[in-house]
Amino acid sequence: MNYKKIRLKPKKEESLKRFHPWIFSGAVQQKDNDLTEGEVVSVYTSADEFIAVGHYQVGSIEVRVLSFEEEEINASFWEKRLSSALDLRKAAGLISDNNNSYRLVHGEGDNLPGLIIDIYAETAVIQSHSVGMHESRMMICEALKAVLGDSLKNIYYKSETTLPFKANLGAENEYLHGGKDVNEIAIENGLKFYPDWIKGQKTGFFVDQRDNRSLLEHYAKGRSVLNMFCYTGGFSFYAMRGDAKLVHSVDSSSKAIMLTNKNIEINFLEDKRHEAFAEDAFKYLAKVKEDEYDLIILDPPAFAKHRGAIKNALQGYKRLNAAAFERIAKGGIIFTFSCSQVISKEAFRLAVFSAAAMTGRKVRILHQLTQPADHPVNIYHPEGEYLKGLVLYVE
Ligand code: SAH
Repeated sequence: MNYKKIRLKPKKEESLKRFHPWIFSGAVQQKDNDLTEGEVVSVYTSADEFIAVGHYQVGSIEVRVLSFEEEEINASFWEKRLSSALDLRKAAGLISDNNNSYRLVHGEGDNLPGLIIDIYAETAVIQSHSVGMHESRMMICEALKAVLGDSLKNIYYKSETTLPFKANLGAENEYLHGGKDVNEIAIENGLKFYPDWIKGQKTGFFVDQRDNRSLLEHYAKGRSVLNMFCYTGGFSFYAMRGDAKLVHSVDSSSKAIMLTNKNIEINFLEDKRHEAFAEDAFKYLAKVKEDEYDLIILDPPAFAKHRGAIKNALQGYKRLNAAAFERIAKGGIIFTFSCSQVISKEAFRLAVFSAAAMTGRKVRILHQLTQPADHPVNIYHPEGEYLKGLVLYVE
């Protein structure tokens, strides 16, 4: 192994011995000259013992660990990591004719910090969150082809908004492989949708709500459903299949409303039960009549993207949930979520509790929800748990 070296301060190897994959800049004693952002470095303890190998980056997290073994980060490394990620998805029963959309790589959850790969039918969408992953994109691409074989026709690289500013890499979106004759329709639990990996948010669809949408389907029968923050309409098309009486989808983005209508149409041609509205959530909720809906989904964007925003975010969750409690019909069900990583399960639950208490409704928790198996949480990196949800019964 011929990588440049980083040496840690005394005792700073403790968290690495417990396999935590980040090395903060404060832990670094000394580093070789001329380190380039994104390059692979070997990390040693103050006693000069090897401890990890990872991607170097300027910033508060200086190294993202790729391996705790003294190994080369070469083609066989990438193939090994991607095969192991694929095995996990197969074990979870996520790959079939009925479901060809899944997250293949979930960063630290797959021992690949800084890398996201989502699969939509024949297309893989890669997002790098670190310079190291950006630099490795061609090797990742080759490993993907080797691991997924002929089932993979396209690899789209989409990192214009996820790469760190300091890296100064500019915008870069491109097909690394294929790009033609692509099957544009992906399938989730037998329902079709168009993932818009070029212009859509994140990689084009939120696969992380798959299990929660399935659960919603079982609650939808005969209900009047409001899917707030619908984006591509995921919860709406499950509610339709679950025999909802009517489904209204709301999102402030007109692009999202277009995508929702398109996805409803490919599954339920000419079905008059569905309508979509481009409107702000709070404005829409203020107009809702009491008893108009008896199933409401609240899946807003992350209200807090960093610790400093937690207080305001909790106020936001409280206000939003209170608006739903005020209007939902008696015997109604609310599916409420937070995808903010920095908001803990307990804090979110407390915000929802405060909203319930404020409105005086009697509320019981039926389910406590989280992210699905293709968004695994590395037990040594609990920060990877981000999605939390509650299913509530409102008397
Ligand atoms: N529930 C979706 C994902 C939601 S993502 C799914 O299952 O895929 C969050 C969505 O909230 C985005 O589409 C964004 O356009 C929308 N949004 C953000 N602020 C909003 C607001 N104030 N009112 C309504 N929608 C909003």
